[in-house]
Amino acid sequence: MKLLVTAGPTREPIDPVRYLSNRSSGKMGYAIAQAGVDDGHEVTLISGPVCLAPPDGARVVRVTTADEMFDAVHAEVPAADALVMCAAVADFKPAHAAPRKLKKTDGVPELLLVRTRDILGSIVRPKKKFILAGFAAETHDVAACALRKLDVKQCDLMVANDVSGSSTGFETDENIVTLYFRGGAARKLPRAGKLEIGREIVRAVARLSENC
Ligand code: C5P
Repeated sequence: MKLLVTAGPTREPIDPVRYLSNRSSGKMGYAIAQAGVDDGHEVTLISGPVCLAPPDGARVVRVTTADEMFDAVHAEVPAADALVMCAAVADFKPAHAAPRKLKKTDGVPELLLVRTRDILGSIVRPKKKFILAGFAAETHDVAACALRKLDVKQCDLMVANDVSGSSTGFETDENIVTLYFRGGAARKLPRAGKLEIGREIVRAVARLSENC
């Protein structure tokens, strides 16, 4: 299977030295990419800025902003059999990035934010056999949000993780996730390391790919 994975946060510039971003470390997406390589899949990883060694055997495409990730995903999707959209893409970006560093002596700037484009929601399936998987990182109503995203973003699989605690989710080495499948099935995975969870996700995607 040709597996496309996105990972990490995006950075949305305020000026040449400042940006808006989020707490994503990229660990979950990198673990999925590694698990994909380990299972013999051809993996392309589109990565936002993170401090992680690239997974052995994966092709890595580096991006910084949500717009760059949008373009990279759309460039890679036609060749892929599955997309696992694990990246924590910024939902908002400054309407304008200042061309020069904003000076504090000029007063407190007012930041006008605009929505970024929804990458996952914009994917048109390139072929009949194509699996689309998303992530729903939520602090509350996790199951309901995941099911809504599964439907709205027309995914085959939505991986829900509760990021309200401090020992799993963002920045940590472990995660607790539930897989929600199109058609209503759900599978809660026990708390485990991200590589182990990555293996479960890759195998679920591979099974969906074989059966579609
Ligand atoms: O941000 P949200 O919770 O809606 O993200 C759910 C899914 O949509 C994730 O898989 C994320 O990678 C993807 N997403 C995206 N483009 C965005 C925001 C989120 O593809 N602008």
